[in-house]
Amino acid sequence: MFTPFAKLYAGLLRVLPIPQRLREWWNRQAPHRQDRYAMLAPLVAVLFFFTAIVVAVGYLRIEEMEREQEALRRDVEYAQQRLRLRLLERQEDLTRLAQQISNQELSTTQFRHRAEVILHLYPEIQGLSWVTPVSGRASSPSNAAPGERFRLRASQGYSPAAQALANYPSATASASASLTGSLDAFAQARELHQPAYARPWLMSADGPSWLNLFLPLQIQGRFGGVLLAEYSVDALYDYSISADVSARYATSLRSASGQVLAGSRVPRPKAATSSNGLTAWLGWAGQAEQQVLVSPAGTGLVLHAQAYRASQGLIGSSLFWLVTMLSVMTAWMLIANWRHTRRRVQAQRALLLETSFRRAMENSMPTGMRALDPQGRITYVNAAFCAMTGWSEQELVGAMPPFPFWPEDSHELLAARLEDELQGRITSSGLQVRIQRKDGSLFDARIHVSPLIDANGQQTGWMTSMTDITEPNRVREQLYASYERFTTVLEALDASVSVAPLGGGELLFANKMYRQWFGDQNLGHVQLSSQAGHGGMDTPAGAAARDRDNQDAVDDLAGLPASSLLDAADDPAEAENAEIHVETLDKWLEVRTRYLTWVDGRLAQMVIATDITPRRRAEEQAAAQAERAQTANRLITMGEMASSIAHELNQPLAAITNYCNGMISRIQARQITEEDLLGALDKTSRQAQRAGQIIQRIRAFVKRSEPKRVAFEAGALVDEAIELADIELRRNNVRLTRQIADGLPNLMVDPILIEQVLINLLKNAAEAIVQARRPLPQRRIDLQIQAAEVDGRPVVEFVVTDRGHGIAPEMMGHLYEAFHTTKAGGMGIGLSLCRSIVESHQGRMRAENLYNGPQAGTEAPEVVGCRFSFWLPLEPEPAREATTTRGDKPPSPSPQEDDRIRT
Ligand code: ADP
Repeated sequence: MFTPFAKLYAGLLRVLPIPQRLREWWNRQAPHRQDRYAMLAPLVAVLFFFTAIVVAVGYLRIEEMEREQEALRRDVEYAQQRLRLRLLERQEDLTRLAQQISNQELSTTQFRHRAEVILHLYPEIQGLSWVTPVSGRASSPSNAAPGERFRLRASQGYSPAAQALANYPSATASASASLTGSLDAFAQARELHQPAYARPWLMSADGPSWLNLFLPLQIQGRFGGVLLAEYSVDALYDYSISADVSARYATSLRSASGQVLAGSRVPRPKAATSSNGLTAWLGWAGQAEQQVLVSPAGTGLVLHAQAYRASQGLIGSSLFWLVTMLSVMTAWMLIANWRHTRRRVQAQRALLLETSFRRAMENSMPTGMRALDPQGRITYVNAAFCAMTGWSEQELVGAMPPFPFWPEDSHELLAARLEDELQGRITSSGLQVRIQRKDGSLFDARIHVSPLIDANGQQTGWMTSMTDITEPNRVREQLYASYERFTTVLEALDASVSVAPLGGGELLFANKMYRQWFGDQNLGHVQLSSQAGHGGMDTPAGAAARDRDNQDAVDDLAGLPASSLLDAADDPAEAENAEIHVETLDKWLEVRTRYLTWVDGRLAQMVIATDITPRRRAEEQAAAQAERAQTANRLITMGEMASSIAHELNQPLAAITNYCNGMISRIQARQITEEDLLGALDKTSRQAQRAGQIIQRIRAFVKRSEPKRVAFEAGALVDEAIELADIELRRNNVRLTRQIADGLPNLMVDPILIEQVLINLLKNAAEAIVQARRPLPQRRIDLQIQAAEVDGRPVVEFVVTDRGHGIAPEMMGHLYEAFHTTKAGGMGIGLSLCRSIVESHQGRMRAENLYNGPQAGTEAPEVVGCRFSFWLPLEPEPAREATTTRGDKPPSPSPQEDDRIRT
């Protein structure tokens, strides 16, 4: 985003004659980069400004210093000139005097007189001495030995140097360093025959300083001593340096080593010595300095001048600091301003984001919003409100009541509502109104009102939210209708339906039938579900204990994840299903229980109980009848076999009669021994026993008894059955062959009933053979008993194969139906009973015809007999036995079996 700076610079770039490439470069930069450059530019400008000021101040300062230096140089040179002139003039006068002495024109007195005049005229000359060699004769300078002695011939004024010279050279050892300079000059003047200045010297640190001039004397061409003039350096300074020079500069006369001999003793500032470039510029210690040699005095005397500290430096540095401060302040303000701008931009961006977020929210909201001012004028409507009513924003904003979306017939009512709204009398739950769309259609809406508060906390009107509740109303009505239907169906059910949470004492739902049977409490639900869990009849004594068990079971279930229970409930095999007898109602109920997730998410158990008392009674009756039928069938069988049995009984009876008659006649003829009699009686008794056995077996077979299962060996079962059936077979000239597999396991069966099945099948087989009039070799029945496997379960299979006429076509499909027979005196209930007996033992029965291969000239293969077989499982399924108390209703034959029958 462009900040004001960036905008400004963009504008400047357009206006200013900036090269095209720079402009292009600027345009290529990303906005945030432009923003940064724009922010940096003022800072750079301030830096430039600051540098320019520093450079300008420095430049001026250097200029000024140079000017000062120039002035100083001129002034110093002028002063030096004056000093030099003065020294030269004095030297000239003294040279003249020395000339007169050399010409021996002056006596000592005259000399003294002249010297006095000179000292008087020239105050800088403090002493004037005439020094001659002690010998009185002039010696050549070349052979002047160190041991040569001098004396002071005459002197005027102060003359420490002349004194020292007079003691020369003995004084040399004790002479001070400065005096040695004088001695050197003396030697120089004597050798060169020229005036020589000695190095200036100080008597003491603060004492006066002296400059000695030696003028050689040539007396008759020989060295005749010197004229020594002693200048006071202070006087020389005072009379040579003009006042205005010494007022402007700290001037002084110094020795070559820099020692101040006369004049101002201004110490040299430290900064000047370090001569730091910037500080010199800034004028802290930029005083100009100049020194020149005073030429006739040789290298020993230096005129030194230094400008006094000017206020210029201070002013310059103040200006500098002012500019520095202003620059820093400007930079700081720029940065602060930039940061402030950035914060403002951020705030602006956040505000924009917030605004667009709110707008998006407002537009996406299905709730219509409308703002009213205190007079009831619409000041704002959102998009949803316009979409809802069909009126545009322009049409609605500014509208006064009655509003265009008020239906014609409810103006008064809505005006009253609006009044309530404006008075703040609308409750928080809102109110329902009817709204008219622009196209005239109506819809129901619910409105909520809240006060509209501005930023100052003042209420400026009311904000109303409006929701179209036509659809929710319709859904609610539909839901209510479906609920009605649902409850009507459930209430009208002739089964009791109840739902209770696991482990909870409340009843979540109970239909009318439940309430009729058990009232409003959940006791009935608990009783039904617990008994269903135990799958048996209830007794009041065991109810409490079972209730506890049930609670335990519930607790166990409560620990399980709900999903596993619900999964189990989806599996029909897992849903509990039991028939129980409820004592209090004296009803048999079929109870189904399922787990389900209740509407509030809790795990609950639903119990559906259907009254099955009539069916149960019918089943009991049917069972009783079946039992009676079985007994009747056995009687009928016996009846049918009566003639055979009578014939069978006749034999032992006839034998008994024969034995008795024989014994009577032999006893009467007294021809019998006791031994024979006992033998005959024994035989008689055995025959009677045999008859008794037959009668006993018949009685046992036909005796009606409760069905009971015992473990019974398959072979033994067959023996018993054959004993009875064999009588009939033998009568009909039918042979029975049997193949009984070894080691057959025991069967849990009711032996009388299985015997009955076997007798029935053998009897039917014999009858079929008789009816088919088979020749003697074919009059045969095969009985096979073997172990087999059905669906992986071990079973014992019984197979009866005959050579009869086979099952008649009209009997196909009705073979096991009662009263279907092809025999003249037949009842047609034998096979029906056989099947129900076999199936009550969880076995299965089947029948099939046996065929020959197709004969020449005939299309269909010939029936040569039939085979009836049935199997019994070794162990009946305990589960089914335990959980269901239904009667032994035979299941209908499977399609496979039907096929076999039809084969
Ligand atoms: P009933 O023997 O009194 O007729 P069943 O129920 O024993 O009653 O037999 C029904 C019918 O089944 C018989 O009438 C007969 O037609 C047929 N049936 C039964 N066993 C055989 C068999 N071994 N061979 C041919 N048909 C048979």
